[in-house]
Amino acid sequence: MLLLCFAVFDLIVSSPCAAAPLDSVSGLQSVSSGSTRNKVLLISFDGFRWDYDRDVDTPSLDQMAKDGVKAEYVTPPFLTITSPTHFTLLSGRYIENHGVIHNIWFNTTTQEKKQYYASQFVDSYWDNGSLPIWITAQRQGLKAGSLHFPGTAATYQGETVKVRQVEPGFYDHANETDWRLNVDKVIGEWFHQQDLDFVSLYFGEPDMTGHKYGPDSPQRREMVKQVDRTVGYIRDRIEHHGLTERLNIIMTADHGMTTVLRGEQVNEIILSKIPGFSFKDIKFHLVDYGPSGMLLPKEGMLEKVYQALKGGHPHLHVYKKEEMPARLHYSKHPRLLPIILFADPGYVINGFYTFQYNKGEHGFDNEVMDMKPFFRTVGPDFQKNLLVGPFETVHVYPLMCHILGIIPEINDGHLDITKHMLAPKKNTGGDNGSTEMSTELQAVIGLSAVIGFLVLVFITTTSYNLFKRSKANRYKSDHIAAEEKTDQKQTNF
Ligand SMILES: [Zn+2]
Repeated sequence: MLLLCFAVFDLIVSSPCAAAPLDSVSGLQSVSSGSTRNKVLLISFDGFRWDYDRDVDTPSLDQMAKDGVKAEYVTPPFLTITSPTHFTLLSGRYIENHGVIHNIWFNTTTQEKKQYYASQFVDSYWDNGSLPIWITAQRQGLKAGSLHFPGTAATYQGETVKVRQVEPGFYDHANETDWRLNVDKVIGEWFHQQDLDFVSLYFGEPDMTGHKYGPDSPQRREMVKQVDRTVGYIRDRIEHHGLTERLNIIMTADHGMTTVLRGEQVNEIILSKIPGFSFKDIKFHLVDYGPSGMLLPKEGMLEKVYQALKGGHPHLHVYKKEEMPARLHYSKHPRLLPIILFADPGYVINGFYTFQYNKGEHGFDNEVMDMKPFFRTVGPDFQKNLLVGPFETVHVYPLMCHILGIIPEINDGHLDITKHMLAPKKNTGGDNGSTEMSTELQAVIGLSAVIGFLVLVFITTTSYNLFKRSKANRYKSDHIAAEEKTDQKQTNF
């Protein structure tokens, strides 16, 4: 009995060591049920520059900062344009590693180009070795969705994001009524009714307004007010559906916006006017698309083209792709053409004529402050009223995987960069707060073990005494019975 007692005691005290496995077991269980972990809503407001809330009244964004975390700004990957930077958010990889190198899909042999919208449907362009978080989450038992987010239309290794909405070809990205319908769909239907774990939600503004009217225009400020009203609406819907304690919002953008310099005084970049340069030496080119460009020179012409353009304009940066600054992470991918061009802030790259009339542009060096997006989070997994310093958007992916409790794919981000934004964990397992958690657990389990041991000792002692007493009683009654028998015998005889 004592041996059994010690064995049970041993089993109980070994539990604190099992605290970590217990956590991971509960983690795995919640993956399959999708019911206990917290959810993540990743929102992108295209082209929302880090400082757009400074000259506009933004009560909802201000409230969100009080209730959650605000980063001073974040640094997008280079090239600072829509499809490539969004795919970095989804995959945690730099652009040279995920291969979605431009908004435009192109074929240098056929000279074919597909613009932003058409390129969304070219599976091979997106499905290029790196998996977006939707597919990883689905493979690990979670439910994912995406509305209008770049990359949503494509199939990855035979799989699409299961719940999705792709915008039609001529979609009005600025319509506030549609924005609300989209929010209703994501919060009310996808998160509330269908119990999705992760959704990415995209809004095409204030990018378009920033391009058309410039980042310093009253129209851009009006659009930021519309964004702010929408942020208020999103949080209201989350509250309405009782999701506030279960749903984290991570809100950011793909890039910023800067004013394009215009006028007589501006020395426009027109490649055909640069001495020694000729488009006759070029097999394929990607220019007239804002401040960046790429060139594929004809056989044997690379050096000539490079030498002509290098130093050919005071505001034009010219690199052979392998000589691109390493910090830009935009040189390794085979899709990148041999010569890469980008302009100083305010300048755009023209081929033959100046026919780009946008008042605002992006696509510049990601160190340019005007290229930095905003970043906000709020939800059960995040600290409250916390302002943090800048970080690269490549680190958002491991943060999302951590909150969702999924194993990330190979990526270029680090949780160490962003985990200080997380609140100490209360329920599920994971890196953050696990020390605190296991200490608490150990205390509880240790106390239970002591109580359990005392109860066992009590039971053992009591049953032993009872056993002794009943044995004695039995002996006594047997003895009496024997005596009675003897008496009977004696009587019989
Ligand atoms: Zn844009």
